[in-house]
Amino acid sequence: ETTQTTKIIQQTEKFGANNYHPLPIVIKKAQGVWVEDPENNRYMDMLSAYSAVNQGHRHPKIIKALKQQADKVTLTSRAFHNDQLGPWYEKICTLTKKNMALPMNTGAEAVETAFKAARRWAYKAKGISDNQAEIIACTGNFHGRTMTAVSLSSEAEYQQGFGPMLPGIKLIPYGDLESLQKAITPNTAAFLIEPIQGEAGIVLPPAGFIKKAFDLCQQNNVLFIADEIQVGLARTGKLFAYEWEGIEPDMLILGKALGGGVFPISCVAANEDILGVFTPGSHGSTFGGNPLACAVSVAALEVIEEEGLADRSLQLGDYFKKKLQAIKSPIIKEIRGRGLFIGMELTEDARKYCEDLKEEGLLCKETHHTVIRFAPPLTITKEELDWAMERIQKVFQTQ
Ligand code: PLP
Repeated sequence: ETTQTTKIIQQTEKFGANNYHPLPIVIKKAQGVWVEDPENNRYMDMLSAYSAVNQGHRHPKIIKALKQQADKVTLTSRAFHNDQLGPWYEKICTLTKKNMALPMNTGAEAVETAFKAARRWAYKAKGISDNQAEIIACTGNFHGRTMTAVSLSSEAEYQQGFGPMLPGIKLIPYGDLESLQKAITPNTAAFLIEPIQGEAGIVLPPAGFIKKAFDLCQQNNVLFIADEIQVGLARTGKLFAYEWEGIEPDMLILGKALGGGVFPISCVAANEDILGVFTPGSHGSTFGGNPLACAVSVAALEVIEEEGLADRSLQLGDYFKKKLQAIKSPIIKEIRGRGLFIGMELTEDARKYCEDLKEEGLLCKETHHTVIRFAPPLTITKEELDWAMERIQKVFQTQ
């Protein structure tokens, strides 16, 4: 008998470009940390759409904001003002402690925006000669899939067949201060870094590296740009992951949970001396700053504050991490992370274990072959985490 799930997967595979390799599950409904397939099987979401659903699926407050705004106006373009953008600017600037922000839609577009801002700042403010600006990034990074973002990548797979790559980019090993020092020249505009590398497999830099790198950038008049698209907005137990390091980046890139998993919105936040380099006509986006996204985003940010999601992530993350570390299994190499952003590194390919966990009702995704990421919605309860733990124990303790 052909199930609805099989039919939908066949249809998807028949007509869709083959740029993803999803687990064989179809989600037709979701609420909070739970999702349901067409056959009414329930699963717990341990991925949160790569941290875009930090507030939980279909958070009532965010859905209400979406519906109310949908009944008023959804898109004006930036040819006109809309009444939701101003309040959103003020909210995001208050939270980031920056005095300017620039809204886009996807994470990669916000990275693109930060990259352009850094280059323009290099020419206009730092005085670098035309077309000479250099941007330093880290090996193992993930900044998205646009040409700029893949040009920044050290993954051959992300670049294969897409050349030529963008010039003006240098890579240093993630966490290597000496390499950063050597890579900085008078033409360096910016250093771009994920405070914790998500796609690389929840990789934390050596203790103190970020602070030292930040100081080095300041000494050399190099902008320090934090890509907080995945780790920001309460995921690691602080509102922003950089707060763990005692620094204030010059530029901050946000996305994913900025729209509560409901509507895409991303942004760059920085002070006027940097974002002020943009002038009318120099950058933009038809949907960037649209009233629907802004209304949703303000609600999404309020949920993070009102429900203390950063503290929840910190406390529940510590609880969950300890339990994971207590599992005795020869194939578990390491458990690491901050808050509810936890990686389980295995001694072998993780895909099979994600499939086994799915059979137990837990949706996880492997990253970089050997790491399973545990990143549930931050609204998860302790009881729900215990429920997850039982399933994880079952899959790993029998090995
Ligand atoms: N930067 C980081 C750190 C990310 O984790 C991601 C997405 O996973 C991106 C950028 C790209 O975001 P998007 O997929 O919305 O373009």
